[in-house]
Amino acid sequence: MPIITLPDGNNIDFPNKVTGLEVAEKISKSLAKQAMVISVDGELKDLEHLIEKDCSVKIFTSKNPEGLETIRHDTAHILAMAVQELFPGTQVTIGPVIENGFYYDFARKDPFTEDDLAKIENKMKEIVDRDEITKREVWDRNKAIDHFKKKGEIYKAELIEAIPENEDVSIYFHGDWHDLCSERGWALFQKLINYMRSRQDAAGYKEVNTPEILDRQLWEKSGHWEKYGENMYTSETPDEKVFAIKPMNCPGHIQVFNQGLKSYRDLPLRITEFGKVHRYEPSGALHGLLRVRAFTQDDAHIFCAEDQITSECLNVTNLILDIYKDLGFENVILKYADRPEVRVGDDEVWDKAEASLLEAVKASKLEYSINKGEGAFYGPKIEFVLRDAIGRDWQCGTLQVDLNLPGRLDASYVDKDGTKKVPVMLHRALFGSLERFIGILIENYAGKFPFWISPLQTMGIPISEEFNDYAIEVSKKIKDAGISSAVDIKNNNLNYKIRDHSLAKIPLLLICGKKEVDSNSVTIRRLDSNKQENMDIDSFLKTFSALNKASSN
Ligand SMILES: [Zn+2]
Repeated sequence: MPIITLPDGNNIDFPNKVTGLEVAEKISKSLAKQAMVISVDGELKDLEHLIEKDCSVKIFTSKNPEGLETIRHDTAHILAMAVQELFPGTQVTIGPVIENGFYYDFARKDPFTEDDLAKIENKMKEIVDRDEITKREVWDRNKAIDHFKKKGEIYKAELIEAIPENEDVSIYFHGDWHDLCSERGWALFQKLINYMRSRQDAAGYKEVNTPEILDRQLWEKSGHWEKYGENMYTSETPDEKVFAIKPMNCPGHIQVFNQGLKSYRDLPLRITEFGKVHRYEPSGALHGLLRVRAFTQDDAHIFCAEDQITSECLNVTNLILDIYKDLGFENVILKYADRPEVRVGDDEVWDKAEASLLEAVKASKLEYSINKGEGAFYGPKIEFVLRDAIGRDWQCGTLQVDLNLPGRLDASYVDKDGTKKVPVMLHRALFGSLERFIGILIENYAGKFPFWISPLQTMGIPISEEFNDYAIEVSKKIKDAGISSAVDIKNNNLNYKIRDHSLAKIPLLLICGKKEVDSNSVTIRRLDSNKQENMDIDSFLKTFSALNKASSN
């Protein structure tokens, strides 16, 4: 597949399409950490840009003018976001990068004050801390206008129309995500967790909550201190003991396993956690949600006997694929990576681990590629790559067989014959980072979620003030039925409210007026439809409770 030529004339041959970030990683880990932007045959591209054909690639860091310019561009965009969040109605004009930084020109009735500058700076910090996906693509101006008109984003289209005819525009996908995030991102996060929790519960997992901070000695024993130390945050106590904030949940889960004597009857033991992990990355390396310092992993570790590896790998693969399907991703590609040259463990055990994992890959009947020698030093792995609605690939889930860590941290069980054995450990993540996955989900559905996963499912709209009480009463019944609901009692007219909540992509708007009060009903207006239908409250609750499950997709 693509042969990539580097500035020094060397070529790297990749077996599959690669992103700019993956090319940088191939060259060196430290370069990957500092990379800001790449050029492909002389054209600047994002690090996530997918390279499919032979080309020459340059990688830029903040030390290069190109990298610095990227930082300034992104910062200018964050400034514009901050201003528009703080001062709604402010018009954005131009915000170019200049020799020693950038400036942004806003159209506004009142001038900004000194105090505003401090407020804007704080807001920018807050936006950066939200760790949203920042992705930039350069589009032709007319293509951008068409795109936003089709999406019903009239304001954005108008904004782009104000740009001179012959200029390209940078489209930041930050914005789309942010709109939703600041409205109801946490509700969506909770919904996803509740959904995954119920699926994992049914699949025999035990959810745990392990400490955020653990003694340095444990990290030394696990090997993280030596191999991963530079990415760990540490903390010292008055008695001069050193603790580390967990960058991964694995050692903590082995501690859970080690509580009390385990026998072969306890296996497989499936431990799961929505674990908040922190990893130190140099500030220049942070890249939207792709490289962040804190995120929530949907992590699990399965402790099993060697003869259970195959069936457990199959169970995990089926669960992962089933969950992806519920969330709208049916197009999944697997990457299977086998033993690297430098590794721990006997070849016999590797044979078994690889055969089991490959069997799981084959049983999935999905397209897969083999990354020879790319497994972890402790065992083989599968990566799950999702293809979204417009054909972009996202590496999300992983499944790894680990023949090393349980032994290092003294995990053992008593086998049938009374001997002590070390369990095999499977590491599994469904999406990797929940925050990042939410970004992917929003992009996949372009914000229009299926009813069951919508962070806010219904909005009651009284047609005038006298129907507020009725709308609130209906909303309460809807909430009692497990469907999320709010009521808009603001003093705006009906059309304004309909437009406002349609833009916020709420699946069902429920109009309440005299007719509805008299017949104990609501008039439903579905997203993307101008048709209205009237339904009595009982039928409404029955119909939409049934749709409020993943399987109703
Ligand atoms: Zn792990």
